[in-house]
Amino acid sequence: MMHNKNKASSMRRKKLRVSRDIAIEEDNGMIAQSPLALFASQSKDWTPKVPLTYKGHWNCTGVASITNNGITALMTFVDRIERPIIYGGPLLNEYRFEQLHFHWAEDDQAGSEHAIDGVKCAAEAHLVHYNSKYSGFEEASTQRDGLSVTGFLLKVTQVPNKSFEPLTNAVYEISKMNQSSTLSADCLKWMLSINLNEYYTYRGSLTTDPFLESVTWVVYKNPVEISSDQMKSFRQMESQHTGEKILCNARSLQPCPPGLCIYHVNQKTKNNEIPVSFNTRSKL
Ligand SMILES: [Zn+2]
Repeated sequence: MMHNKNKASSMRRKKLRVSRDIAIEEDNGMIAQSPLALFASQSKDWTPKVPLTYKGHWNCTGVASITNNGITALMTFVDRIERPIIYGGPLLNEYRFEQLHFHWAEDDQAGSEHAIDGVKCAAEAHLVHYNSKYSGFEEASTQRDGLSVTGFLLKVTQVPNKSFEPLTNAVYEISKMNQSSTLSADCLKWMLSINLNEYYTYRGSLTTDPFLESVTWVVYKNPVEISSDQMKSFRQMESQHTGEKILCNARSLQPCPPGLCIYHVNQKTKNNEIPVSFNTRSKL
């Protein structure tokens, strides 16, 4: 009798976990304008059933191309049959890689868009992915579950980051607007220099015009460390209008809407409980 009761209760728990594990799709409807100041103390711990997984980002297939579009350095893959994908974590579907770009400022303490526990870094890298259920980035960017951006804060330290070198070398070659350069397709390996298991996730927006609220954000807690010289590669790029240097292309912090769900994921933790408020509308 006791056994059956426990079994039933365990099954019920399992069912709830499944329904709440996909809760980023069924959350309380709150969406923020991005970027946000993210605090451990104001987020809820959550361990997704399927860890957020990268596939193909570090392959050496094809070529990467990076362009100065007058606003940022924007990298895409060319000559590649299959785009890299991400899945798991807060995502219900596979999201295909579209492009990587950067935000920065003149000041080493101000260029990242998000702030982690009150701290900003020199820059922030955004890997933009779109939900593969849509025809492409354009269609996806207007949908609530259309995009997922994984954000990496870049912190300036004394030591050059070797795995970041191919990228900054290429950025030095695109100082003028519309200049492009190619680099090895495995130029994203710097992502592996931090703990990819720990991140914040929330529903937010693009940080550039038209600021569409279609982004499931993943912002890594630990910054990627690069040197001051590597950081300078971005600040010597010229903008479209005046030919002046692009010294700040980071959007300011946006107010956090009351009730917004922000989750802190540390996949290594053994706590598999899904936070209750992940889905405030679901029946418990
Ligand atoms: Zn961005």
